[in-house]
Amino acid sequence: MNTTRTTPPRRLDVAEAFPELGPLARPAYRLHPRPGSPSVHESSVGGPLLWPARQQWPTCDKWHEGPPNPLLPVAQLYARDVPLLRSFGKADLLQVLWCPFGHPPDHKPPTALFWRNAADVTDVLEAPPRPFEVEEDHYVPEPCALAPEPVTEYPAYLDLSGELQRRLSDRGAWRVAGGEVDGFDEIDLQSLYTGELSVAPGWKVGGWPPWGCTDPIARFCIICGAGMTPLLTIASDEWDGGTTGWIPYEDRDLAERGGGNVSNPPEVQVGSADHLQIYVCPNSPAHPYPGGSHPHTDLIQ
Ligand SMILES: [Zn+2]
Ligand SMILES: [Zn+2]
Repeated sequence: MNTTRTTPPRRLDVAEAFPELGPLARPAYRLHPRPGSPSVHESSVGGPLLWPARQQWPTCDKWHEGPPNPLLPVAQLYARDVPLLRSFGKADLLQVLWCPFGHPPDHKPPTALFWRNAADVTDVLEAPPRPFEVEEDHYVPEPCALAPEPVTEYPAYLDLSGELQRRLSDRGAWRVAGGEVDGFDEIDLQSLYTGELSVAPGWKVGGWPPWGCTDPIARFCIICGAGMTPLLTIASDEWDGGTTGWIPYEDRDLAERGGGNVSNPPEVQVGSADHLQIYVCPNSPAHPYPGGSHPHTDLIQ
């Protein structure tokens, strides 16, 4: 871990102004992927995996021609860097791979999750197979080191109750609550809440879904019926014009100069919604999840 990223404090503690939001606070870890050459012993996006030499490399043979296509490493996360992962089971390492082709129904790359104990991997696979074919260059993440950072999130506007949505759209309610941030009279309150006070943009573990263009869809585990929770968000951008308040201090100069891929170092682009969020069952990471093949783990609870 050779980088640090620091998200500036929110302009307003929205749960202090609107205490109904307090119980809805959720922890998240922003991953802040930045160009690097991570090793198998480090957390990474698009980096090499600590993969047991004896374990078969996963492949995909659906929706494209030719022989089964080896999956591509997307992220490797050690629980020592992202302690929130411990709440999903006993494994201390999560590996996420995907097939670099958009699959039906939403034309996103399907993912595969591998939960393991790093100490069990004594013999590391040296030269993993690469995909024969890739549909989009944007499905091949550039190798990035991570600087995981804990933050607190509140639900996206569309995930809130009608009553809370009404209160957050009412300028008078903000005034009464002491929520008059700089330039308050000109600010669109929903944009302020959405862009700056609720859901962190970019790659992250945990937190809330970043609903924007679509209505929220509740997801339930097909095995036990529990509400699925966000595990990993794979994003196309860490900030845009509406979320500049989330740019880490360390990137502010670079962001101002612009150009290149400063807001998207992994150069990943996923679908029109600009993100792919992997949900898991809070009761067991072994339960199937939408958009993925069956998770692989022998380290359950
Ligand atoms: Zn495939
Ligand atoms: Zn379940």
